Amino acid sequence: MAASGEPGRRWPAVVVVGSCMTDLVSLTSRLPKTGETIHGHKFFIGFGGKGANQCVQAARLGAKTSMVCKVGKDSFGNDYIENLKQNGISTEFTYQTQDAATGTASIIVDDEGQNIIVIVAGANLFLNTEDLRKAASVISRAKVMICQLEITPATSLEALTMARSNGVRTLFNPAPAAADLDPQFYALSDVFCCNESEAEILTGLTVGSAAEAGQAASVLLERGCPVAIITLGAGGCVVLSQKEPVPKHIPTERVKAVDTTGAGDSFVGALAFYLAYYPDMPLEEMLRRANCIAAVSVQAAGTQSSYPHKKDLPLTLF
Ligand code: ATP
Repeated sequence: MAASGEPGRRWPAVVVVGSCMTDLVSLTSRLPKTGETIHGHKFFIGFGGKGANQCVQAARLGAKTSMVCKVGKDSFGNDYIENLKQNGISTEFTYQTQDAATGTASIIVDDEGQNIIVIVAGANLFLNTEDLRKAASVISRAKVMICQLEITPATSLEALTMARSNGVRTLFNPAPAAADLDPQFYALSDVFCCNESEAEILTGLTVGSAAEAGQAASVLLERGCPVAIITLGAGGCVVLSQKEPVPKHIPTERVKAVDTTGAGDSFVGALAFYLAYYPDMPLEEMLRRANCIAAVSVQAAGTQSSYPHKKDLPLTLF
């Protein structure tokens, strides 16, 4: 099938209004106790944040993308902007602030894979409605806009409202989830996509199987979104829509997972790509393909570093 988004279009087709986080990762033989100092055996810096992860995956599939976000006026912020540019993402509305440091996730992982993580959202929380107004030209002309919850909810809601009022398809990923999510998020999401644990927090139901995911998806749908998708790790995903009100399980291929970190963001970024460039493709087929792309991401280490490029994927996905 040929991509129906205009390849040479001037405006980004996928716009993300969301977070950038610098991951500071230390590998240790065990986790330190309170007040203890221990030696680690490896340290590395990675690029993360759900917003940027999703944008990078969409860009690597060939989407024209723009990242509306805020980083600090510091070296992590400068490096992050360079990372976005290297992925071909427009940084025209990637703001820098003196008021806070670039968002960070300080992560300690022991030999058993146990971890302790401290997230300081920093500059992400300074992205405000004034910044969105300056970015209105790209938001209003996108095919798809994605939001998550790593920036202030008021900013995400404003972005969703702007997109909706301009006929831009909204894809909302309620992560990290909070039980008291503002009901407006459901009403403003054309596609509402979360993982099992987020679905549990939002609905209060147990989500351990595709059947249970279907039940949780129907609760999400009742709250006002036309399409609810729940990802199930190696189990693929479940989709339910107002058009087709019977839950559909879309399993994924069996692969040897090396590192599943960021698989959900790879899935959301891939889904945005298909929504933007193949708007006439059946949703189930988009989800089957998003499963395939996320399955590639779990077979390599790291988050963005594991996300596949178009050139490395089978032509049948395009
Ligand atoms: P993360 O929080 O690590 O980003 P997540 O919990 O949000 O991930 P998951 O539901 O674990 O998201 O995974 C998202 C998608 O990634 C799944 O729907 C599936 O397509 C793919 N995936 C995840 N784990 C595996 C796996 N072990 N094998 C194949 N595909 C996988």
